[in-house]
Amino acid sequence: MRLSRLLQLRCPVCGVGKLFHGYFDNPERCPNCGFYFMRESGYFLPHVAIGYGGTVLVALGSWPLLRYVFGIESATLTLSIMIAVAVVFGIWFVRYSKVIWLAIDLTLNPPSADDFESRGRK
Ligand SMILES: [Zn+2]
Repeated sequence: MRLSRLLQLRCPVCGVGKLFHGYFDNPERCPNCGFYFMRESGYFLPHVAIGYGGTVLVALGSWPLLRYVFGIESATLTLSIMIAVAVVFGIWFVRYSKVIWLAIDLTLNPPSADDFESRGRK
C-alpha cells in the first residue's frame, strides 16, 4: 500500500481502480482488481471520527494563523473565518477520511482472498 495511491484516491491494492464515483459515496469494489473495499456492513463508519478530528484540528489551527500572521484581532471575524474553514475543509476531507480509515484497516488487516469474493456483496 503506497501513500501516493491513497492521495490520488486509487485502489490501495492495485493502484489502478478509482475509489470513488461521486463525492459522498462509499467505495464498493475496485473495477480493476475486484477488491471489495466495503469489507463488512458499516465498514466506513470510523471515517466520521477521523473527519471530525481532522476538521477540528484544522479549524483550531487556523486561529494562530489568523491572529499572528494576518493580525486579525476581531473575535467575530476570527470565529467566522474558523467556521468557514471548518465547513470547507470538512467537506473536502470526507473522501480522504475514508481513505485514511481504509489505510489504517488494511495495515492492521491486510487483504485476504475473501476480500475478492462476493459473499453476497454487490
Ligand atoms: Zn484494485
